[in-house]
Amino acid sequence: MKTIDKIYINGQFVTPQGTDTFKLYNPATNEQTGTVVLGNEEDTRAAIAFAKAAWPGFSRSTKAQRITWLQQMHEALAKRREQLIDAMVNEYGGTLQFTRASINMAINNPREMINTLQHFEFERTVGQSRVRLESVGVAGIITPWNSNAGFITSKLSAAVAAGVTSVIKPSEMSAQQTQIVMEALHEAGLPAGAFNIVNGLGPVVGAELTRHPDIAKISFTGSTVIGKTIARDATATLKRVTLELGGKSPNILLDDADLEKAIPLAIAAAYNNSGQACIAATRLLVPEKHLEAVKALVKTTVENIKVGDPAKEETAVGPMVSLKQYERVQQYIRLGLEEGAELLVGGIGHPEGLEAGNFVKPTVFVQVNNKMRIAREEIFGPVLSILTYKDDAEAVAIANDTDYGLAAYVSSADEQRALHIAAQLHAGRVMVNGFKHDPQAPFGGFKQSGLGREFGAYGLEAYLEPKTILI
Ligand code: NAD
Repeated sequence: MKTIDKIYINGQFVTPQGTDTFKLYNPATNEQTGTVVLGNEEDTRAAIAFAKAAWPGFSRSTKAQRITWLQQMHEALAKRREQLIDAMVNEYGGTLQFTRASINMAINNPREMINTLQHFEFERTVGQSRVRLESVGVAGIITPWNSNAGFITSKLSAAVAAGVTSVIKPSEMSAQQTQIVMEALHEAGLPAGAFNIVNGLGPVVGAELTRHPDIAKISFTGSTVIGKTIARDATATLKRVTLELGGKSPNILLDDADLEKAIPLAIAAAYNNSGQACIAATRLLVPEKHLEAVKALVKTTVENIKVGDPAKEETAVGPMVSLKQYERVQQYIRLGLEEGAELLVGGIGHPEGLEAGNFVKPTVFVQVNNKMRIAREEIFGPVLSILTYKDDAEAVAIANDTDYGLAAYVSSADEQRALHIAAQLHAGRVMVNGFKHDPQAPFGGFKQSGLGREFGAYGLEAYLEPKTILI
């Protein structure tokens, strides 16, 4: 049993003043694996004070210096790759396949930001003016449990590149990953106070960051509900806010798509990270005339998915992160049945032999219409809804009929046709014939999936204020 009882303030590992604790469980077994001691408002205020004191010097650092820090962050993280993967599998139940990709992203984020920085002009001529892009001040960084390490390093890399100091509030459920990231970042040798990490609960540490007048910017990844609370709290001091929130992403299968290729990809995109992904492709839109063929292929594909121990190489779907999340997904499966959707595969309860952990049966509903709650709300588990459409225009209309707008997917044998559909979709990222991450391209949501963009130059600009100088 591990006890995580240090937070990181002003370049040092310190014992929090807060004394409350939070229990950590292995989601594959529900055995307690550790305890984290939670920081409180006083810890948060101390961290903010040091970040504020470090800011003038840090904001004047040169591009070359920032590149050196980012390189050191990358190297210190890379040394801990296996440790980070182990922690993510054990405390989060991430499958090995997903975890490797997620941790690679976490490790590469600082290096990607170096690439961005090398081509970035902090001073430009616009009209008759000089425009300087200046460090916004002190940032509050708040991360979710799904890819906690990846979100810490993506946000922190942009902050460092911008000369912004920060206080990070990681997900309390990912304390082991945070601990390893903390040790790596300490080794990276940034100036004391440049970043600080306070473990704690959202309504305590997160809320203090969001309300504190010395925080100029909040970068948040998490649910839409909490994102709205943060936006409201941040308004009192008009903080700059970047919000990366939830999704209910459509996947349009055009009538010329090769089903043998498209269906396994559609299932992988829906059950990415065991369905606990903001970009999960949870609404599969199928041409009416192909429904029967799609149903048959989906059923066999899903029945052959390996569910189980996330540490095993072949596992494609692991447990839900917590018992609470397991129960939430069960409720949605029940709701789908009550709403009159037809269960194609999966259903209520644990898969056989996996009763001890938070395992869910990979589930697919057909006969879903877009008004049902299972088609409108983010479930955050391996639950896919299949909807049908008559023509391309109707497919686009159903795809866009959602409060969300994070990602969308299109499958077609004809790339031009897919691009024509992509242009009509209201989503921050459209993926054609598969899915991948581009660390230089902007990432973020339309509509209630967020505000602002992260990654690459767009992500860096989110930590900068333009100052126009006219002579
Ligand atoms: P969450 O919103 O419950 O929590 C996210 C973070 O906010 C946690 O650190 C939490 O402690 C903190 N928090 C909670 N209440 C707070 C408050 N009042 N003030 C400040 N901070 C507070 O989300 P989660 O369950 O950890 O993560 C899953 C959600 O994140 C899903 O909705 C998913 O779609 C979303 N997500 C979005 C992206 C994206 O890039 N768009 C990526 C990953 C996850």
